[in-house]
Amino acid sequence: MAARAAVTPRSPGGGHAPGRRSPFAVSVAALRRDADHRASVVCSAAIGGLAITGSAVPDGSDVSVEVVVELVHGGVLVSGAVTAPWEGACRRCLGPARGVVRSKVRELFEENGDPEVVYPLGRDTLDLEPLVRDAVLLDLPLAPLCRPACAGLCPVCGANRNDTACTCEPVEQSRGPWSALDMLRDDQSR
Ligand SMILES: [Zn+2]
Ligand SMILES: [Zn+2]
Repeated sequence: MAARAAVTPRSPGGGHAPGRRSPFAVSVAALRRDADHRASVVCSAAIGGLAITGSAVPDGSDVSVEVVVELVHGGVLVSGAVTAPWEGACRRCLGPARGVVRSKVRELFEENGDPEVVYPLGRDTLDLEPLVRDAVLLDLPLAPLCRPACAGLCPVCGANRNDTACTCEPVEQSRGPWSALDMLRDDQSR
């Protein structure tokens, strides 16, 4: 990858202090000089605040980026993959759940483009961080499972059926897949 120039991060959600170089900055100037007008970019760094209701990228964990950047008419096309570890609470048993987010990305960075539609392209650099942030947030699991076959909690007594067998009568499943969790919440709020 070409030498990186200083860049002012644009991510509104925080992460890097203003004036600090983004670890996801890519030199557009080098791309313009390159005969093929394209380059492979592999980089990784921690990004703060990657969390949704059901899961989050643990603080300090690296988000990895493997993309090809190419000069195209109107801007720079970025395509490839973003990978990050996540942790959360299992929606069935409330135990720890973890996994890896793998997001495919293909986005255009444009100078003077509508920031609602495209990512901003600086004169000499572009910062992949807003793209990386959006891709991870979009693909973090909302309602994760600790394992596909998690047996969950007993809706009657609350026992973790992964660990123990209880003798409760089975209840009908008409209340949907999260009924056990809902009933547990009812119990706790009494
Ligand atoms: Zn579970
Ligand atoms: Zn039970």
